[in-house]
Amino acid sequence: MAFLFNSDPERARIFAAEFKRELPQLPFVTDPQTVDPADVRYLLTWTAPPDIARYRNLEILFSIGAGVDQFDTGALPDAVKLVRMVEDGIVRMMQEYVTLAVLCLHRDLPGYLNQQKLGIWKSRTVCQVSARRVGVLGLGMLGQAALERLRPFGFPLSGWSRSPHEIAGAACFHGEAQLDDFLAGTDILICLLPLTAETRGFLNAGLLARLPAGASLVHAGRGQQLDQKALIEALDSGHLAGAVLDVVDPEPLPADHALWRHPKVILTPHIASVTQPETAAKAVIANILRHEAGQDPIGLVERSLGY
Ligand code: NAP
Repeated sequence: MAFLFNSDPERARIFAAEFKRELPQLPFVTDPQTVDPADVRYLLTWTAPPDIARYRNLEILFSIGAGVDQFDTGALPDAVKLVRMVEDGIVRMMQEYVTLAVLCLHRDLPGYLNQQKLGIWKSRTVCQVSARRVGVLGLGMLGQAALERLRPFGFPLSGWSRSPHEIAGAACFHGEAQLDDFLAGTDILICLLPLTAETRGFLNAGLLARLPAGASLVHAGRGQQLDQKALIEALDSGHLAGAVLDVVDPEPLPADHALWRHPKVILTPHIASVTQPETAAKAVIANILRHEAGQDPIGLVERSLGY
């Protein structure tokens, strides 16, 4: 039995030390050439290796990230459990990013950055937090954590998901039937949906039009969920006031793409949240122990839903 680690050497060093301490009986392997494929029970990777079929006794495929859209789930043997990364470090970083982005839009930082470039010293209109409604698309690990971190600021909060949720201090909406009401009451929309067949292209012209005039977007899900042309049109028409984008399609954008230099857009290179190896190693080990005790690992992907 072995654990095969397929990521960068720095992360490997930290994982190896944690495995040696907490799970010394499980061989920790980073070079696939040094292990009999039949011995590999656990594989941690970002994308599935093309020769994954040789690991015929594989039990769990761990994603090194929170998303699993990079895997072709149909090509994975049915018996293999696909598990996304659920760990404290990735949650904390996303909380930081969402807070940064919401405050940035709430206080009109894009407007002030443009004024600075032009040498303009002038105050801009500001509204109070009680009048700035913040809504989160996706109420999973990251969406709920984002709401929790935003709560102390005093924004009216809401969220939307597939199934019903109850979250203290946030109005919860679910399903297509409640999407209009959710959008109509959202001034800063945060997308933390996973990329699936249903959410690809979800942030389209029709959806953006259902937001109130002057609304803004924070996008930290996946680039393919956003119709970038529709976003630019909504910004240019004045319907939307601004956007903070961490994910785009493609990544990086071509050098001449309008989003690079759009005055209402702040663009970051997919850095909102990154798996932290110290906490991730502990989470993966805990999941192996759960699995070996006959329990489902935390973050087990429901393959029929794609997340
Ligand atoms: P998660 O725990 O699986 O939560 C997903 C949420 O989305 C759930 O609330 C789910 O609803 C909802 N959802 C999924 N499909 C839906 C649909 N068709 N309609 C309505 N709601 C839907 O995921 P997570 O860990 O929070 O991560 C979310 C995503 O963030 C990841 O998949 C990844 O793409 C992205 N991410 C980005 C970065 C970055 O650096 N930019 C870093 C990490 C993750 P239910 O609750 O009803 O199931």
